[in-house]
Parts: sequence; structure tokens; C-alpha cells
Amino acid sequence: MRYPKPHFFLVGVLSLGLTTFVIAQFNNDAEDDRFTTESVLLSIPDVSTNRLAGVAEDNLPADTPTSSATARETFIEKSAQVAPGDSMARIFKKLGIPGRELALLLESKPLGPRLKNIFPGHDLRFTLNADNELLKLAYSPGPLETLEFERVGDRFIGHDVQRAPERLTAYKHAKIDHSLFIASQRAGLDDALTMRIAQIFQWDIDFVLDIRKGDEFYVLFEELYLEDKFIGFGDVLAAEFVNQGDSYQALQYEDPHGQKGYFNPRGENMKKAFLRAPVEFSRISSNFNLRRKHPLHKRTMPHRGIDYAAPRGTPILAAGDGKVVTASKSSSNGNYVVLQHGEQFVTKYLHLSKFARGVRAGRRIVQGDTIGYVGSTGWATGPHLHYEFLVNGSHMNPRTVKLPDATPVPAQELEAFNTQARPLISLLNNYKQQIHLALVR
Ligand SMILES: [Zn+2]
Repeated sequence: MRYPKPHFFLVGVLSLGLTTFVIAQFNNDAEDDRFTTESVLLSIPDVSTNRLAGVAEDNLPADTPTSSATARETFIEKSAQVAPGDSMARIFKKLGIPGRELALLLESKPLGPRLKNIFPGHDLRFTLNADNELLKLAYSPGPLETLEFERVGDRFIGHDVQRAPERLTAYKHAKIDHSLFIASQRAGLDDALTMRIAQIFQWDIDFVLDIRKGDEFYVLFEELYLEDKFIGFGDVLAAEFVNQGDSYQALQYEDPHGQKGYFNPRGENMKKAFLRAPVEFSRISSNFNLRRKHPLHKRTMPHRGIDYAAPRGTPILAAGDGKVVTASKSSSNGNYVVLQHGEQFVTKYLHLSKFARGVRAGRRIVQGDTIGYVGSTGWATGPHLHYEFLVNGSHMNPRTVKLPDATPVPAQELEAFNTQARPLISLLNNYKQQIHLALVR
């Protein structure tokens, strides 16, 4: 058998404990292991005939397996990266590790069951003895976390090893020309971070219909580094979005219970009782409507709602917390959903291709839950969501109607909010000034 990257480690010092060795090995091995590798790693003199055997055992940590003499002779390390469609059972089979070992691992509470949720790209490292008994498994679901399972007799004990990344703050400014996502990419932000920025403002700004050329945003955020290597974006600390000349500022605040949220500089919650756009706009963003496009609609019918042209299948989100009053079908509405929010408010969603699972009359709904999918059932010429907003039974424009305020920062926390938030807002404002100076120059 040929190994893509064989490496052999000789350890001469007998007193070096097994655990220590394995950890050192994991840390030193930065090899590319996209492929399954298998190598015999360790040769130790036959301990059973060695006078020092007793001493060596005394030096081993108490929970180190000492099953047989042969087990101490050779350790085999195998590693794998989860491929699409892989399951743990399949990986065990591929590497020739008995399924019994997997069963033992899964029984290890509370971390064992996490091995059922493995995703492509995750790394696995196995240490076995010559009897093909698994001694250790290290599983890394991401660069910051490793689950280490160690054999102790006939069971495994799991440890969750967390690594703290270095957090650096960075600023970006983006001006929208064609789409929010294109502007963000040009500024060096990935789509996931752009989504998070948009989500902060989704109660104030309709990211499907209201984004215009010339809109811009400023953002102060964290970059995460591990050993000087960029590994991803951390929190968005502060942001300002300018939409059609209106400016919205948001600051991250962590309350005394460790709950993080976004508030404007006055301490008012960015979250409101109703979302601006009840559709998942990330799905629409690729062909973002910069000019407001009105879908073909029966001219003779008074138009009492807002239409969101969106690809068929785009998730439709509950605009607010509430209860499903109707999930039904009619010749004009097609498949439609009516939600009741408290005493006063009702929202309606028409022309759905289908309902989300479990959406039926009487069901409680949380804001942002998917209730159905965009379609063109009923009187619709193309896929779109027709959305209506009623206050005390009358159709209202959800953009202009007065809505209940969401929970602000509690009075007793305002001082903490001000000490946390003020520096962020001045940092963001300073950055804004620099950008403007640079643009004028
Ligand atoms: Zn309509």
C-alpha cells in the first residue's frame, strides 16, 4: 500500500506518556490531509521484556490504557477528511476500524452524539493500537474546536478543546452601484457577513425593494486570526446604513446575561415587531431589483398590498410573532396564509407555491419563521409574493404605519450601554470622516 504522506516518528524516551505524545503529534502535524492517510507512527522497544517497564507504567497518566504489551509496541495513526455523503460508519469501514469502536464513541456522553453530525471538510484523526483498538479520536468541526475522545478501559471520555482566536477590528465602506452583495464583495466582505449586516437593519430597511444606487454602508467588525492566519469574520460591532438618504446606525451591546443585540445610539432596539420585507432576500439578491419593478397585476383590481417579485421557491418569512389564522387556497389568492399578531395586526401572504411544513390554522409562529414559498398560484402572472398589512381590519402601508416599539436597553443598563456603545459610535464616525476626506481629496 502506498501512502501519500507517510511520516515516521521514533520516540526513544520511554517515560514519555502516550497522551503527551499524541497531543504533540496532533499539534505538529500540519500536513495537508485532504486524503485519507495511514501511517505507522511510533516504535517503542518491547516493554514486556524491559526491566524499566514498571517505571514506565508508573509514569503514565492514571487513565492511560495499558491493555496489553503489544499495544504499547506500535501505534497507528489514521486521518481522514469528511467527504460529501460520508457518514461516521462509512469512514470507520473505509479505514478498517471495527464498528464496535464507533458504537462505544457514540455512547460517550455528552460529546459522543456530536459525531453523528459530521460535515464535509471536517478533520478526523484516529490513534489505534496493533490490535486495531481505537485509543483516541480527535475530531475538528472547525479551526477553533477539537473534540478529543480518549479510551479509558472499555469506554471513551470526551474533551471539548477550544482555541481562542485573536480578534482584530477592521472597517469597511461600500457604496452600492449594482447590488448590495457586489458592493460588499468589492469592499472585501463575504456574503455571509453582508447578510449579517443586512439582518441588523432588516426591521428598518426593505432590502428587496428599497435599496438604490448610491446607498452606502460603513461597518466596524472583527476579523479572527489563528496563528496569524485569517480564519473568518467575528462580530459586527457597529454599522451605519444609508438608504435613500436616511441614515441608520446600530451598535452591538452585550447585556449582563451575555446576550448580544443591536441598538441605535439612543439605546433603542434595532429589532421591531415587524420585518420590513417578509421574504428571504439573500435568495433574491443575485438579480436585485434596483429599479422598483412592479409585477404585472390586474389593473382593474385595487392594489392593497406590496408585491415582491422573487424566484419561485424563495422562502416567505413571518413578518412578526403571531398565530396562523388561515393556511388555505382560493381561486384568486392561490395558496395563502393569514397571520394574526396580537389584537390589532394581521398580515397576509398570497400566491404561494406551497406552505412550509406544519403551517396550519392555530399554529404559533415566531418572527422570521418560514411559512411558505414564493409561487404564482391564483391570479398571478409570474412568481411573486403579494403581502398585505392590516391594522384593526384596515389595509395600511407597513412602511408608514405607527408600530409598537420593541424593548429598549433597560434603564438600569443604560450606563453600561453608554460605556460600551459610545466608543464604538465614535470609532465608526471617525472612520466615516476619514473616508469622506479621502473622497474629497
Ligand atoms: Zn399584488
